[in-house]
Amino acid sequence: MRVGLELEVDGRAVRIERAVPRGPTAAVKLLPLLRDLSGAIVARASAQASAMGQPVTCREACAACCRQLVPVGRAEAERLREFVAAMPAKRRAGVLARFRAAQAEMRSAGLDRLREPARMSDGERARDARGDYGAVGLLYQRSHIDCPFLADERCAIYPERPLACREHLVTSAPEHCGRPELPGVEGLGTDGLVFEALAAIDAPAGAEPDWIPLPYALEWVPAPRSRPGTGPELFHRALAALRPRRLEPAAS
Ligand code: SF4
Repeated sequence: MRVGLELEVDGRAVRIERAVPRGPTAAVKLLPLLRDLSGAIVARASAQASAMGQPVTCREACAACCRQLVPVGRAEAERLREFVAAMPAKRRAGVLARFRAAQAEMRSAGLDRLREPARMSDGERARDARGDYGAVGLLYQRSHIDCPFLADERCAIYPERPLACREHLVTSAPEHCGRPELPGVEGLGTDGLVFEALAAIDAPAGAEPDWIPLPYALEWVPAPRSRPGTGPELFHRALAALRPRRLEPAAS
């Protein structure tokens, strides 16, 4: 059956709507609809930023943030595993080699304990008010670990990129994103909005959602723990889990 909603984007009503399973299903089946929702929220925030004279500087061919910590939840890890498994053998071998290289760099940086969500503290697991991962995010960024999907400074899986990548929008110059020593990254506050909503519908009631850094996503096969729900129930649960932050650029 089809479910959806309408949002106003740049003065126009934009309807997102997709077919979802009528009966009990897994959160990963909601991913296309939640990507559409994320896209509409991002488009609305971008339009608001432009109207305030602070346009978003993120572009498809920009890889300035592709050495930052990218959290991947259960459903998205499942989708990435399927996607990589379906690649032609030669391409898959290259991608897997880049995953191994990223993991080796994480080991060198002392970040390999993040491969087990249970070893993260509550403070590390949750984003701060700016939508960042605090000290662990900063250490990751300072370690300059290439995303395994980065090829020739472009995202090689752009249509399949995780929600965390889609929702990270800045109005500051791109060079600030790649250099944590430079202050002045101005985000829109969209970081993690739908990512967290998707992670929340995959977690038992009252439990913190799990995520893992992208370089460990392909080997992360967590025990199933979704609360059962039909497609429409999971969508409404995701909408209820949206936690809006500041969705406009900071005044200059
Ligand atoms: S998945 Fe793509 S957009 Fe996201 S960090 Fe990796 S290369 Fe960049």
